[in-house]
Amino acid sequence: MPQYETRVPAELPDKIQHYIDGEFVDSADGDTFDVINPVTNETYIQGAAGKKEDIDRAVAAAKRAFEEGSWSSALPRERSRVLHRIADIVEERGSRLAELETFDTGLPITQARSQGKRAAENFRFFADLIVAQADDTYKVPGRQINYVNRKPIGVAGLITPWNTPFMLESWKLAPAIATGNSVVLKPAEFTPLSAGLWAGIFEEAGLPTGVFNLVNGIGEQAGDALVKHPEVPLISFTGESKTGQIIFANSAPHLKGLSMELGGKSPAIVFADADMEAAINATIFGVFSLNGERCTAGSRILVERSIYDEFVERYAAQAKRVKVGFPHESATEVGALVHPEHFEKVMSYVELGKSEGRLVAGGGRPEGFEDGNFIEPTVFADVPPTARIFQEEIFGPVVAITPFDTEEEALQLANDTKYGLAAYVWTNDLKRSHNFAQAVEAGMVWLNSNNVRDLRTPFGGVKASGLGHEGGYRSIDFYTDQQAVHINLGEVHNPVFGKAD
Ligand code: NAD
Repeated sequence: MPQYETRVPAELPDKIQHYIDGEFVDSADGDTFDVINPVTNETYIQGAAGKKEDIDRAVAAAKRAFEEGSWSSALPRERSRVLHRIADIVEERGSRLAELETFDTGLPITQARSQGKRAAENFRFFADLIVAQADDTYKVPGRQINYVNRKPIGVAGLITPWNTPFMLESWKLAPAIATGNSVVLKPAEFTPLSAGLWAGIFEEAGLPTGVFNLVNGIGEQAGDALVKHPEVPLISFTGESKTGQIIFANSAPHLKGLSMELGGKSPAIVFADADMEAAINATIFGVFSLNGERCTAGSRILVERSIYDEFVERYAAQAKRVKVGFPHESATEVGALVHPEHFEKVMSYVELGKSEGRLVAGGGRPEGFEDGNFIEPTVFADVPPTARIFQEEIFGPVVAITPFDTEEEALQLANDTKYGLAAYVWTNDLKRSHNFAQAVEAGMVWLNSNNVRDLRTPFGGVKASGLGHEGGYRSIDFYTDQQAVHINLGEVHNPVFGKAD
C-alpha cells in the first residue's frame, strides 16, 4: 500500500499575482481564488482573481509597449536573440519548472520534464523561423511590383487550459512575441503556478517591459474581459469546445481574429495486419500519458474483429500494469487528475461506462490512494458508437474499445463524433493507410505512430475540435497582417474620367 504523501516544492511564492507592465501586482479589488494541490485537494495558495479593471491595465501596458516600438519594430535578428535566450533559460530552469508543474497539475514528473523541453523548443523554433522567413513579391513585367509587408497586429489575448499549462502557454507566447506583438496571457485558474515563471524569464532574456503581461483569474471574469476588450484584436484560445463557442460569440461584435484549439475524441484504428505490439504500446501511451488529460488522446480504439479478442485481452493486461503513483515519483506513469471537480467528472464517466460497455481494466480509485484525484487506468470494451463514453470527451485515463469488420465501417466509426482533432491509423497496407488517412475527419493523422509532431506542420482540428491552424508559418500568419503594397512601374494604368475635350 503506498504511503500517502505530497511533496511541496521549496520556496513557493506566498501568493500568485498578476504581472502587469513589469510588476507583480494583486487584483485591483484584492479578490483571490483558491488553488488546490491535486494530491491532497487542499488549498495551497491564493491566486489573484483578475477582473475587467486588471485586464484594462494589462491591455493598456501592452498597447503602450507596442506603440512605443522597441519590440514591435525590432529587427528579426534582435527578436530572435531574445527568443533564443528565453529558450536557454527555460532549459536551465527545467527541473524547477517541472517540480512546480507537477505539484500544481498532478502530472507525472518525467512527463512534466518533457513538456518543459518542448516549451523551450517552441521558442527556439520561432527564433529560427523569423530570421529565415521571406515574404512574397509578385512582378508584372514592366508594369507593377507587388510585395507583402508583414506587420505585427497589436495586443494578442492568449487564453490557455490547465493540461500541460506551461508548454501550451509557450505555444502561443513564442509566435505572438516572435512576430512583434505584445501579449496579455490569461492562464487556467486550476493551474496558475508555473505561468508566473515567464515574468522572470522574459525580464532576464531582455524582453522590453510591457510586451508580456499576465492576468490570472476565473475564465468567466478575467478571460471574458480579455475577449471583450476592444483593443485586443486577436484571441488565441485553447480549451473546451463549449468555451470556444462562447468566446466566438463574444468576439463577434469586434470581429476579432480567432484561433481555436478545442476538444477531441480521437480514434486509433488498428487493422489486423498492424504490428500489434507497437499498436498496443502506442495506444496505451496515447490515452494514459499526461493522465489522459490530453487533447489529442486516442480515447477511442477501433480494432478489426479478427484480432479484437486478443487485442482487448493484451491491452487490458497492460493497462492494469500502468503505474499510478504520486506525481513527483519518477516511476509514476499516471499521476493525480488536476482538480476534484475534474476528478468527479471523469469518475462519473467511469461509472456510466460500466453500463455502456464491458469493463476490462480499472474502474475506480487505485488501492491505497483514498484521497486526492487518483483514478485507475480504465478500459471499456465492446463500446457501441451510441454510448456517451464513445461520443464525449472524458479527458482522463479512460478508453473505449470497439470492434469493426470492414474498412468502410472503421471509417464510419472513426468519423462518428462531433470532434475531429487527431487520428492514429495502424496498418501495414500502404494504399489503405493513405486512403484512410485522407478520408478520416481529423486535422492531424499519424500512421503507425503515436503523437510525434514536427513543429513545422499545421496543428489544429476540424469540426468541433477547432478553428484555424497554428504551427510553423501558420502561426506567423495568425499573429501578423499581410499588407499588400502595389507599386506602379509603367504608365498610370486607368481610364481617365472627366477628360477635357
Ligand atoms: P476551458 O475551456 O474550461 O478553459 C480554458 C481557458 O479558458 C481557461 O483559462 C479558462 O479560464 C478560460 N475561460 C473559461 N471560460 C471563459 C470565458 N467565458 N471567456 C474567456 N475565457 C474563458 O478548458 P480546460 O478545462 O481548461 O481545458 C481542457 C480542454 O482543453 C479540453 O477540452 C481539451 O481537449 C482542450 N485542449 C485542446 C487542445 C488543442 O490543441 N486542441 C490542447 C489542450 C487542451
